[in-house]
Formats: sequence, structure tokens, C-alpha cells
Amino acid sequence: MTKFLCALLFLFQAHANCVHEMSLTGKEIKSHPERLKFLIENKDARFLPYHNIVEDLNDRQEYDIQIEHVEMNTESSEGYNDRYLKYYSYERLENYLNSKKEKFATMNYEVSIIGKSVRGLNLYHVAPKKIDQNKKLILMFGRHHGDEGTANWIIEGFLDNFMTNKEFRDEYQLVLYPMVNPDGAKSRTRYNANGRDLNRVWDTDYRKSKDEIGVIQGHFLSNYTKPLIMLDMHGSFTEDFIYRVDRNFKGHDFYNTQQSFIDTLSSFDPYQNGNFHTSNGHRKMSRIYFINKFNINALTHETPRDIRKNGRRDINDLKSQGLALIDSIKKEI
Ligand SMILES: [Zn+2]
Repeated sequence: MTKFLCALLFLFQAHANCVHEMSLTGKEIKSHPERLKFLIENKDARFLPYHNIVEDLNDRQEYDIQIEHVEMNTESSEGYNDRYLKYYSYERLENYLNSKKEKFATMNYEVSIIGKSVRGLNLYHVAPKKIDQNKKLILMFGRHHGDEGTANWIIEGFLDNFMTNKEFRDEYQLVLYPMVNPDGAKSRTRYNANGRDLNRVWDTDYRKSKDEIGVIQGHFLSNYTKPLIMLDMHGSFTEDFIYRVDRNFKGHDFYNTQQSFIDTLSSFDPYQNGNFHTSNGHRKMSRIYFINKFNINALTHETPRDIRKNGRRDINDLKSQGLALIDSIKKEI
């Protein structure tokens, strides 16, 4: 059994992902050779270190486990930025949005603060002042996971191009929650300040959704109707890819809709290049929530979160991936 579990763990670690996760029973966890690295989800959707929860584990119950990449999160900001493409901080987002305020106003868009994070940072929202029922609605989220900074460079590229492309804006409108987890971004961790994975706490009843997601989901549902596409921007450990559901989740037509978008994106984005992983996800994941609630194409966009500074790929390349998304939407939606 232990051999099998090791093989399973290896499989998970080798697999491109924005987290290494699995489900194990309490008994399996206690005998697992890697158990000290485990963060285990408790009843309240908090991910607790093995030592904090081992006493409470029930042998027969299944638990969701995540393994955090601790070495990345302990690096100082300066050390990190010497070796990797600059970390996209909460301050950068604030400065960027402030610097574009006038431009947004001329487009009849506004930047607003819809609530606060657990530690009191702003939850930002970028959207038209008034929704136009004749335009197609694009919904985008960034940074459910605080330490996945590259996602925000792509979002910036998306916004830069959105702002200069009036023809696109005549047909499409954007609702953007650019940094869902500012506390995590600040402390360079996946989780929010309550130890929750914010991409595992979307609930069918938003009043039950936890922390920042309760605010954001409530805001979306009370202000908007069905979007045509939802893009959730993340950072992976290894490569660029898209998460989509399998053929059985919503049938062939839905599978083909997702495939078509992925194929089109590959023609504009040489990094993403058509890579995808099929995963029906976690039932409280934003991607799965939007597919189930609105029956729309919802995709998770993954780009390596830590890109070495070696000249082969820079921040402008990340921004160009934002433009590739605009071009793909224009062709597909
Ligand atoms: Zn992620």
C-alpha cells in the first residue's frame, strides 16, 4: 500500500498543477511517508499543517490534502526578483489601477472597491459603469491563489489591449476581479489569511461561501447576469496549460466548445500552445461553479508562477498572452 501511495504522490508531483493535491483517508495519511508536508482540509475548509490536525483525523474518513511549495514562499522579495520575473504585488495592482483611472473613465468603466480581505486589503473590481445588454460579457478572475503572481501580468496585458481596442469594446464588455486574494499575494502564500484555499470555497449558496469569495460572489450575482465566458487566471509549477472538464461532465458539445477555444488560443499564444489538462475539479472551485450555474465555457488559465530570468521569456511575453486571450475571444465567442 505504501508503495502505491508513493507512486501516487509521485504522479501528482510530476503532473503540472497549481497545487499538488489528493484525497486520502485518515489512516492512509498517518502512514504516508510524506505526511509532514501535508496541509489537510478540516471541516471548516481551512488547510492545516499535519501536526495541527493529526489528533483529529478519523481513520476511515477521506480528507483533501495539499502540499505547499514552502521554499518559494520563504524567499524575500528582493531575492526572488533577482532570480525570477518580478513578483506581481498588491501594491503594483493598486498603482496600475490608479494610473488607469482616467482612461477607464473615458471608456465608461470604473475601478471600485467592493469589500475588504480578511486583513482589510481592498478587493478591486473593474467593470463598465453601466452594463450594456447588447454586448457580450467576459468575466475574469485573478489570484485566487496569492502566490501565483504571473497571472496578474497576463491580466495587465489583457487590460492594456482591452483599453486600446475600441472595436473589441464595441462588442464585448469586461467584468474583472483582478486580485481575489490580496492577503495571500502580500504574504506570498496560496491561502488567504484564514488558511483557506479560495478556489475551494465557492458555494451554490453564496452566503455560505467563505471569506473573500462570499464578498465577490455576492457582488457578482447581485450586479450581473450570465457571462459568455469565464477565465480564471492562475500560476502553475511547470508549464502553460488550460484546465477544462472531461467529455462526461457536460457532454460532447461542451467538450468541443472548450477544445475549440483551446485550439484558437494556441494559434495566438505560443507558450500556452494548446496544452490542456482535463479535470472535473473540486465542486467548490470557481471554474466548476460557473459551468454548473450558467452552463458557460469556464476555463482555468495556468502559466508558470515562477519564471527564471534568463532572457527567454520576459514580462512583455506574459502581457502578450493577455492579448492572445483577446484575440481568441474575438474569434470564438
Ligand atoms: Zn492556482
